Amino acid sequence: MKVIDAHIHFSNIEIFKETAKKKSNVDYSRIGLNQEFSNSNIIAGIGMGLTETNAGRFPDRESQNPMLLDLDELPKDLYECIGINPYELINNKIFELRNLEQSISSERVVGIKIYAGYYHYHVWDEVYDDVYKLAEKYKLPVVIHSGDTYSEKGLLKYSHPLEIDELAMKYRNVNFIVAHFGDPWIMETAELISKNSNVYADLSGLIVGNKQVVKKFSEEPLFKDHIKRGLIYANNYKKILFGSDWPLVRIETYIEFIKELIPKEHWDDVFYKNALKLFKNIKMD
Ligand SMILES: [Zn+2]
Repeated sequence: MKVIDAHIHFSNIEIFKETAKKKSNVDYSRIGLNQEFSNSNIIAGIGMGLTETNAGRFPDRESQNPMLLDLDELPKDLYECIGINPYELINNKIFELRNLEQSISSERVVGIKIYAGYYHYHVWDEVYDDVYKLAEKYKLPVVIHSGDTYSEKGLLKYSHPLEIDELAMKYRNVNFIVAHFGDPWIMETAELISKNSNVYADLSGLIVGNKQVVKKFSEEPLFKDHIKRGLIYANNYKKILFGSDWPLVRIETYIEFIKELIPKEHWDDVFYKNALKLFKNIKMD
């Protein structure tokens, strides 16, 4: 089975390095990623651009736009969604918007990432308007962090998936991807993607940890039912994308977990085709 991992990280961020070492047992490096890609037949990965100006500052209000993937030289099958820091966008608007537009011409750029919750703005706030206009102009999907934040500095009211309803209506010609299926607000996300033709969801980051942790949760019926209920309610596997959130979990382990949630006849869509359709700039030979 061919797989596109639609949500990973490849940035020099302290908390990712720490999680990889202490929780998920991942080799968070170019070599580690290449190894995982070849183990699981992953033909493309999409990295969420993110930077911090000093170790441990994430979510960093001083990072310049666009935030990119800065861990190491990029593997050839790794694409990126350019990350947006709204604070710096306000401070240096003209300069940073020009940088954003320039970065879009890179062959690697396939989308845009908004860090709702981490940055304290509503996703529909006018601070992001120029970014969504660029998304519309270049036909780039916008991935929006949603649900729990991986930092106490986040504010959940901004990362609640229902925030995206208003945005989806405001920009009907832009496709939005709700990251992490909005977990724990799975049913809200299921309704959001059912109601809005331009809203999708990825299944990344539902479990963070090593093989034992993934096993523990995948053997817990209440945990699995909580996610399955949303998938069954939405009843549209064309709108669901596989993503792992590597390095927070091993990709191979996470694929096995997601397979248990998705009926087999939809694996091809969820693990591969939907991402290829949505991220139009991914090139397949
Ligand atoms: Zn992520």
